[in-house]
Amino acid sequence: MRSKLYLLSFLFLMLTIYNCNNPVENNDKTDSATVNHSVDKPLVEKQSIHHQTPNTPAEILQKAEVPVLCYHRISESAKGDYSVSPATFEAHMKVLADSGFRSVLPNQLYDYLVFNNPLPEKPVMISFDDSRTEHFTVAAPIMEKYGFRGAFFIMTITYNKKNYMSTEQIKELAEKGHTIGLHSWDHTMATKYKEETDWQQQVVNPKAKLEGIMGKPVDYWAYPNGVYDHQAATELGRYFKLSFILSNKRDSIQPLQTVRRMIVPELTPQGLLKSMKRTFFSE
Ligand SMILES: [Zn+2]
Repeated sequence: MRSKLYLLSFLFLMLTIYNCNNPVENNDKTDSATVNHSVDKPLVEKQSIHHQTPNTPAEILQKAEVPVLCYHRISESAKGDYSVSPATFEAHMKVLADSGFRSVLPNQLYDYLVFNNPLPEKPVMISFDDSRTEHFTVAAPIMEKYGFRGAFFIMTITYNKKNYMSTEQIKELAEKGHTIGLHSWDHTMATKYKEETDWQQQVVNPKAKLEGIMGKPVDYWAYPNGVYDHQAATELGRYFKLSFILSNKRDSIQPLQTVRRMIVPELTPQGLLKSMKRTFFSE
């Protein structure tokens, strides 16, 4: 009896080791940060990681969209569609938490879109463009209070400038579990990068610099002004796992490089939920 138990435990152990190691060996494309399989997780969950046939663009377009919010200014003084007050931002995070939403990060979204990895029941991605100081001083602490983490897209020309995040603050966000993405060097739209030097200046160099600051890869991009075309999306696919647009139409060949987001203006908490529903769940 006892030897049978030993044999069973041994088999289970081998199975666990096999399941843990195999995806890594077969999967050069996924960086180590996105492969999270501890020994005590159930085997069922590992199977979704185990089958690594990536979805086709058509399959990706068929999948339920995950709502992605896009904030810019979080300030009392700023006005307009690109701004919310700190109190409104807090009310937004509270209504999301109270409604059962859980924040997801771009790597989780990527694994869901490409490999059908499971997400929380009510996922939402919360993102920020333009590297404003208040993203660090106001938004991140409020999000952390509700157990949320976000994606911050940096235009790197603003490093250490007044009203913009310092390189230290960007690094600290990454250390707290937020994702740092790129939003170009100086906010020139991706449709205007024609020469090799434009790509170097707006994508290659700032990506390398940002990676140097954090000591980890930068795999995500947000288009300046949300503007893209097929050519830019295709080219960006060489550098990024996902690129984010606004609530315009996705590219049928490059859905990973045209993930939709909605700009969040000053809305009531219920207004936010309605707007999310209209933008992401009504097609
Ligand atoms: Zn921007």
